[in-house]
Amino acid sequence: MVVIFLGPPGCGKGTQAESLVNNNGFVHVSTGDLLRKEINEQTDLGCKVQAQMASGQLVEDQTILSLITKKLDSLPGNKVLFDGFPRTLDQARALEELLQALGKKIDCVFDFHVDEKKLYERIVGRFACVKCSAVYHDPSIMPKVKGVCDYCGSHEFEKRSDDNVKSLSIRLEKFKEMTLPLRSFFEEMKVLKKIDASKSVSQVREEIVSSLGL
Ligand code: ADP
Ligand code: AMP
Repeated sequence: MVVIFLGPPGCGKGTQAESLVNNNGFVHVSTGDLLRKEINEQTDLGCKVQAQMASGQLVEDQTILSLITKKLDSLPGNKVLFDGFPRTLDQARALEELLQALGKKIDCVFDFHVDEKKLYERIVGRFACVKCSAVYHDPSIMPKVKGVCDYCGSHEFEKRSDDNVKSLSIRLEKFKEMTLPLRSFFEEMKVLKKIDASKSVSQVREEIVSSLGL
């Protein structure tokens, strides 16, 4: 089963992905995470994209597709969840071809809707565990014990360098310009499912899980 999460920054894609991985056996493919790993390891690719990502610009399709091709080569299991990919029409067409070659197809695209005011609140408050990457929100989704990660017990947390108002406004512009056209692309394929992602984490999860028949 191939599932895609489509939606603006901060709408809750990563949060719901974490839940499908932990509870439903999905493999999570996030191009943002793959890029951040390259940056942390200071690879040539990482150094090339670091400033672009921090400012909120999209990374070139070719770079993204090389990461995805490598990832798909070694993907375990049958349930794949793409988060933050594809983000352009060319990426979507390339994904279709890559999946076809593997005898797979896109089963469902969840289209996350949240108003912009809420996106700003979510992004400005987002922080994550350094060790296991679990995502939290200040003040609404805090660790159960102050300063201790619920999942791995780590005491170290970080904020993303692109989670600021200036970068977010560019990311939202890019989303509208480059990614929104994917809605009609997936609608024509009859795989698009609209989600009201302004609801609570558990309500959004319910909707996703029941749509997938899990
Ligand atoms: P994305 O991956 O789409 O950029 P995240 O999953 O990282 O978004 O969520 C952005 C922020 O919003 C995080 O701080 C997260 O804890 C919080 N969040 C996610 N889903 C919800 C929700 N349904 N209600 C309230 N806050 C949420
Ligand atoms: P994300 O973690 O999905 O919020 O992505 C963080 C940043 O990584 C984006 O603002 C882009 O700079 C870059 N990025 C992630 N995925 C893609 C993609 N599919 N295409 C282009 N750029 C991407």
